[in-house]
Amino acid sequence: MRALITGGAGFIGSHLAEYLNKRKWFIRIVDNFSTGRLENIAHLIKKPNVEIIKADLKNLDLVNKAVRDIDVIFHLAANPEVRVSSINPEIHFKENILVTFNILEAMRKNDVNEIVFASSSSVYGEPEKLPVDEQAPIRPVSIYGASKASCENLIHAYTKTYGFRAVILRYANIIGPRLRHGVIYDLLMKLKQDPNKLEVLGDGLQIRSFLYISDAIEASLIAYTKTQEHYSVFNIGNTDWISVSDIVRIILEELNLGNVKIIYRPYAYGIGWPGDVKKIVLAINKILSLGFRPKYSSKDAVKFTVRALINELHVKPSL
Ligand code: NAD
Repeated sequence: MRALITGGAGFIGSHLAEYLNKRKWFIRIVDNFSTGRLENIAHLIKKPNVEIIKADLKNLDLVNKAVRDIDVIFHLAANPEVRVSSINPEIHFKENILVTFNILEAMRKNDVNEIVFASSSSVYGEPEKLPVDEQAPIRPVSIYGASKASCENLIHAYTKTYGFRAVILRYANIIGPRLRHGVIYDLLMKLKQDPNKLEVLGDGLQIRSFLYISDAIEASLIAYTKTQEHYSVFNIGNTDWISVSDIVRIILEELNLGNVKIIYRPYAYGIGWPGDVKKIVLAINKILSLGFRPKYSSKDAVKFTVRALINELHVKPSL
């Protein structure tokens, strides 16, 4: 198989690239290195069947070149920071919607027939019932979530109009080594700067489900290989959940910090910023029915991620 991984130098993309390379796929990584890092994929550079291209996918000419002779596109490139929405919505319009449109146009013109898209639980916004399944209404509350919902709709229309096959993966919080955004990364960076106090966005009672990266990659490949429909949607998350306060506790334990002044900063009804949601947990029965079983709980996923990031970010030595 010949796969293009957009955003392949990023967190999820680099782990996916490793996974497919071990299974002897040909992989072409395209990334503009905006949040992705060369060190994430440095060990793949000299491997056979790996191509790495630095290109910005907002440029359709470059996308047309990148998709040539490819069987399937794992489209992960995006700006993944939900909080960016509340400051500069145009970023999510360009990096998420425009880039996805370019990918679809390039697929159409170059006869690429399969796309696997990294969507997000943010498309559900603040659902009425939890855990939320794939049939629930799409009601995003952040521009990021709206951009992912727009991408899903564009992909759906292209599958109907041009006969592509698409697998939509609505990821919960995916975490692990190389992660460089989200609550765990933010809290560790704050403690690196000042180990005496910790500002936490929200009231700490926000509920989230966390999936370890190796589980997320396995679930993604199960969704891709075990479905035949022209358009299928999967929630990719864990069977349990934890709160932001639980994450704070795990981080302080792992750093062996006892005397930290914790300041909770709720923006409104306990959320951390405009576009944040108080509780989100995905029902994952559909992917479970195809044989996926997460190896790590949300709590263990957080613990192992914290340990990895303490090393990567050199948090401990400066405390
Ligand atoms: P990431 O920031 O590590 O990866 C995104 C990659 O896309 C980066 O390498 C970045 O340089 C690249 N990129 C961005 N804009 C580009 C452009 N215009 N041209 C070329 N490359 C570009 O983030 P991630 O956590 O690995 O997320 C991967 C995908 O999964 C994203 O689409 C994100 O929205 C989605 N997702 C992630 C999570 C999560 O918890 N990590 C949850 C839900 C959805």
